[in-house]
Amino acid sequence: MRVVFLGPPGAGKGTQARRLSQLLGVPHISTGEMLRAAITQGTALGQTVRQYVEAGKLVPDVLMQELVRQRLSEPDAANGFVLDGYPRNVQQAQTLDEILGELGTRLDRAVLLDLDPDLLVERLSGRLVCPVCGANYHRRFNPPKHDSVCDRDGATLVQRADDRPGTVRARLEEYTKQMAPVTDYYRQRGLLAVVDASGTIDQVWRGLLRVLGLAEQAENVIEEG
Ligand code: AMP
Repeated sequence: MRVVFLGPPGAGKGTQARRLSQLLGVPHISTGEMLRAAITQGTALGQTVRQYVEAGKLVPDVLMQELVRQRLSEPDAANGFVLDGYPRNVQQAQTLDEILGELGTRLDRAVLLDLDPDLLVERLSGRLVCPVCGANYHRRFNPPKHDSVCDRDGATLVQRADDRPGTVRARLEEYTKQMAPVTDYYRQRGLLAVVDASGTIDQVWRGLLRVLGLAEQAENVIEEG
């Protein structure tokens, strides 16, 4: 099965994409992870894309196109893949169709992890972090024992600058502006599968299996395991 994952930051895309790739026995291809690896390794591509990734800007389509073409041409992706982080605009969605056409195949599904923007703001803006040990908390979903104090070392917890509600909303608006046409692109082609991402990881996973028609296959894997 050849699947792309769409969804805003905070919707749990990476987690679900990884699980699905394990169930299907196909690679999880995250363009963000590939770019970060290239930067760490100091490759020519890494040096070129560093400035974009560090500024949170999109890497130019021509560079992404080559990266994705090469990766999807590798033997382990011949029988399927779960692509996460690409496409991020309609141009990239068209390019992906072209690449798959060259490889003699096509996309089976585009999964959208859908979450109410208010819930996303709550998930991201409720996060607290310990400036001393780096432990993560959430005001509502994973609160510290004492208000705003780290359980481990007693330091006063802080909020990351980009997790403040105003910034989170701006990040989400930017995402919506770019991704709405991509969602439409797949809806018009009858490939879009929408999954409610507001529940727990396991609830979202079950919803994902249902829309992909894989619930039975997953049960067999659990029984065999
Ligand atoms: P991610 O881990 O998917 O959030 O991606 C991290 C960063 O990698 C993004 O902020 C972009 O700078 C870059 N990136 C990842 N995927 C793409 C893509 N499809 N097009 C352009 N830039 C991308």
